[in-house]
Amino acid sequence: MNYHILKKDELDGFIKKLSNSMKVVAPVAKDAGNFAFQEVSGASEIALKYIPTILPPKKYFMPPREKMLDFDISGPQPVDKAVLDAPELAVFGVHTCDLAGIQCLNMVFSERPRDYNYLRRKEKIFLIGMECGDYCDDHASCALVNSHMPSGGYDLFFTDLGDRFIVHVNTHKAEEIVEEMGLAKAASADMTALEKIREHKRGAFRNEIGVDPRKLPEMFDKGAKSKVWEDVGHRCVACGNCTNVCPTCYCFDMADTINLDMKTGHRDRTWDSCQFETFAAVAGGENFREERADRQRHRYSRKFKFPLDRFYRFFCTGCGRCTRTCMADISLKDTLKTLAKETV
Ligand code: SF4
Ligand code: SF4
Repeated sequence: MNYHILKKDELDGFIKKLSNSMKVVAPVAKDAGNFAFQEVSGASEIALKYIPTILPPKKYFMPPREKMLDFDISGPQPVDKAVLDAPELAVFGVHTCDLAGIQCLNMVFSERPRDYNYLRRKEKIFLIGMECGDYCDDHASCALVNSHMPSGGYDLFFTDLGDRFIVHVNTHKAEEIVEEMGLAKAASADMTALEKIREHKRGAFRNEIGVDPRKLPEMFDKGAKSKVWEDVGHRCVACGNCTNVCPTCYCFDMADTINLDMKTGHRDRTWDSCQFETFAAVAGGENFREERADRQRHRYSRKFKFPLDRFYRFFCTGCGRCTRTCMADISLKDTLKTLAKETV
C-alpha cells in the first residue's frame, strides 16, 4: 500500500513545485455557486470542496475545438500535416465521478482505429484525484453507478483528513514526484482515519433511484415505447448542453476550412451532440432520429444500455451535470425513476 501524507499548509508548496515542471489546473469557484477547472498558481485559488464543475476535465483530453491538420492541395500531390497541441499538464482535484468519466473515454479512444490526439494528450496529463464528501447537490446520482468511491484511473489521489491529506500513489510517475517532494509515509493512524471516511461515505451516499443497477439495461428494453420519452422530448429544446457537459459524451464532427487561395486550409474537430436535429441525418434526406423524444431515448440508452454490451460498464457517472445545466429542467434522476415505475 503506497500512501503518503501532505500537510494542508504544505499544499501551496506542492502546487508551486508542480507548476515548475507543468501547467497546473484545478477547480476554482466562479459566480453563482459554479466551479470550473482552470490554471492555478497556488493553493489559495483552489476550491477543495466543490460540486461538479461546469465542464468536466474531458476538455483537457478532448478540447471542444481542436485543429487536426493543415493541408495544401496546390502541388501535384495533396499534402497534409498533423497538428497536435499536447502540453504537460497536471489536473488537480478530480472527483471520482470525473475519474470514471475519463476511464470511459480512455476505453472509447483506445479502440481501433485509435485516437492519436486523445491518447497523446492522455500521456501528458498527470491526474490528481480528490475524494468528495457528502456535500454534493441533489442532482448527483453517483451512488447508483458506484462512482462515488475511488476505483483507479489516477496518478495520485488525495483524501482530506482535516489538517492533512492522505495521498494514494498509483503510478510510477507519481512515485517519482512524491519522492522528489519528500512526502512522509502514512502511519497506521492515517490509514484508520481513511477507512473511517470511506465507511461514512458507504452509508451517506444512497442510490436514490431505488433500482438495482443491474436492472437498468432491462428497464430500457421494456421502456423503449414509454411515455417518458414523449414527455422529455416535448420539453427538450435541443440545445445540446446535456451532452457537452457530460464527462462521457465523446461524439464529434470534423469540418475543413479552405483559405482564400483555394489551395490551403485546415481541418477542425468540434464536439457534436446527439440532441441536435441534424446529428442522425444522412444523405438522401433520411433522418434516423428526427423527433426529440427519439433523441432523448437515444441519449439515455447511450448511458445505461448500449455501453454495457461493448464496454461492460455504464457511461453515466452520476455527476448530475446534464440535469444541472438543462434549460428545460429535465432531470436524469426523475426520468430514471419514472421509467423504473413503469418497467420494474
Ligand atoms: S448522463 Fe448526466 S449525470 Fe450521467 S455522466 Fe452524463 S452528465 Fe453526468
Ligand atoms: S440540456 Fe435539456 S433542453 Fe438541452 S438538449 Fe439536453 S435535455 Fe434538451
